[in-house]
Amino acid sequence: MSKGLILVFSAASGAGKSTIISELKKRRSNMIHSISATTRAPRGSEKNGVDYFFYSVEKFKELIDKGEFVEWALVHNNYYGTPRTFIDQQVEAGNIVVLDIDVQGKAQLDKIYPDAQGIFIEPPTWEELEKRLRSRGTDTDEAIAVRLANARKEQDYARFEGKYDFFVVNDNLDETVQKIDKIIEIVLR
Ligand code: 5GP
Repeated sequence: MSKGLILVFSAASGAGKSTIISELKKRRSNMIHSISATTRAPRGSEKNGVDYFFYSVEKFKELIDKGEFVEWALVHNNYYGTPRTFIDQQVEAGNIVVLDIDVQGKAQLDKIYPDAQGIFIEPPTWEELEKRLRSRGTDTDEAIAVRLANARKEQDYARFEGKYDFFVVNDNLDETVQKIDKIIEIVLR
């Protein structure tokens, strides 16, 4: 069996990345989501081992020291990291491993997996992004302000310094999913 593919999705939170990924997964049975670890608290109905592995800061730092993460970053004052073993096993099995990580994480990942493909999702406008973040109703005003400020920095970094292969503006969900599905088709050729 041929080796799989690592597909990295980055975006400002609220740009629609999670919805896009779950729509893509419905179309492709060999698409597997890498579950990240984080020190932030679970939101809403999020479950440990499904949405994230939720760890204390002490445990997270212990795992960093043991080299258990392919990449890790401090995002919005919380630690996030990608466990290494899972990715290696899934790529070996010929699957498409989807990583939902920030721009710093992508830069670290490139050092270990230079063939990973990067897709950066952009919101149609900053006003729309703020509207989407507020409508989630899960973050405080302060957290939203941090996310909006970071969103602009991340987008600039992705455009001018990051190694992203594709940029897709998420204006209409169906069209965005179709575009990305075509991108995957092309990359797999
Ligand atoms: P959220 O708290 O909204 O779930 O995620 C906040 C940010 O952390 C998002 O930009 C997301 O891409 C990033 N993130 C999630 N998991 C990881 C990870 O494993 N590594 C890195 N570097 N960033 C992550």
